Amino acid sequence: MAGGTEGKKPGTKLVGAGRRQEWTGPVVNPPVWRASTHIYASEADRKAGGPQPKDGKFYYGRQGAPTQWALAQALTELEPGAAGTMLYPSGVAAINGALMSVLRPGDVLLISDNSYEPSRIMATGFLKRWGIEHRFFDPLDLAAYQALFCERTKAVWLESPGSLTMEVCDIPALTDIARKRGAVSLIDNTWASAIGFPALQRGCDISVMSLTKHVGGHSDLMMGSASAGEKFYRRLRQTSQQMGNVVSPDDAALALRGLRTMGVRLERGMQTAITVAQWLQSRPEVAAVHCPLLEGDAGFELWQRDFTGGCGLFSFTLADANLEQRAAFVDALKLFAIGYSWGGYESLALPYDAAPIRNTMAIPGSAKSDTSEAMSIRLSIGLEDPADLIEDLTSGFAAMKDI
Ligand SMILES: *Cc1c(COP(=O)(O)O)cnc(C)c1O
Repeated sequence: MAGGTEGKKPGTKLVGAGRRQEWTGPVVNPPVWRASTHIYASEADRKAGGPQPKDGKFYYGRQGAPTQWALAQALTELEPGAAGTMLYPSGVAAINGALMSVLRPGDVLLISDNSYEPSRIMATGFLKRWGIEHRFFDPLDLAAYQALFCERTKAVWLESPGSLTMEVCDIPALTDIARKRGAVSLIDNTWASAIGFPALQRGCDISVMSLTKHVGGHSDLMMGSASAGEKFYRRLRQTSQQMGNVVSPDDAALALRGLRTMGVRLERGMQTAITVAQWLQSRPEVAAVHCPLLEGDAGFELWQRDFTGGCGLFSFTLADANLEQRAAFVDALKLFAIGYSWGGYESLALPYDAAPIRNTMAIPGSAKSDTSEAMSIRLSIGLEDPADLIEDLTSGFAAMKDI
């Protein structure tokens, strides 16, 4: 196989994946091919050129060039069971591209109730406008999920752990039910990546990632991907090319650079997250920590059974705090910046309220969750020293007391 990574461990794959000599030439990384137009030597040469990048031949910029192909190939090699990967200008574009490749008007999509908010909005907005119906389901309630299937159910959208609230769900069981009912299973695998959750091996048909997060890893690019086995890869590719998706070669080169160090970043983020999460559990100001990496967490057993890794993203809920106190907490932080996104080398904190974006699920972490906003914060743990991060969070708790 290209890159010589077949059968190797993830760390080795991350180094070698996608590095074909015909794309890199005599250097380590593929050059940045900024190109739209192929120039032919003759009319016969033009006629011989096909509309697909066959045998690594450049055809037209929209089909990508070796820089983008190397990234897509690397992601394919990292996802066990994948035949190919399509790249998209953002994670949301990848979610859209994947869903559009398997759904048509009149179909019903089942969507996990703890999905990333723009995925939900895609179902309630864009897909609805195109005549595709949706039903939200609680991924922790298999019986209720099973009861939602009908003749027109064609796809299931999954995410594990769930956005913000971090519930791990039983992907093999959920995808097994979907397969028996003739529905395609798609997963947003951004949290664990293929390194931490081999989605296709766990029953999913299409695995989607926001490369903006761990793969980029440095908070300086937007990109998404969708990987699948032969049958669904063909559909992803056709739909994506018809929709005109293409990513810039400069961004592809950045994403490839990020990918090479992703393994050590994920590992470090995970270890620091466990340290910080355990420390938060010991604090009287904290009602609950939502981190599946922690023994005793509701998702720990499934995480241990199905995952081969994780990352530094988790959340927690404050005890007896109000909005002003939560604001004082995050405002006092100096190492954690306040911000959306995650997976960068720098730590981030994000106050959130999951209640308005859940239809069927209870909000964990607060006894008051059904009547008032649970005072929750999501942390994206970066590469800083854990002791410094804990000191920073200590100053946040001190600032809360002054309110
Ligand atoms: C950020 C994110 C996305 C979307 O990715 P973008 O690159 O920002 O469009 C999708 N899923 C999850 C879980 C995310 O956190």
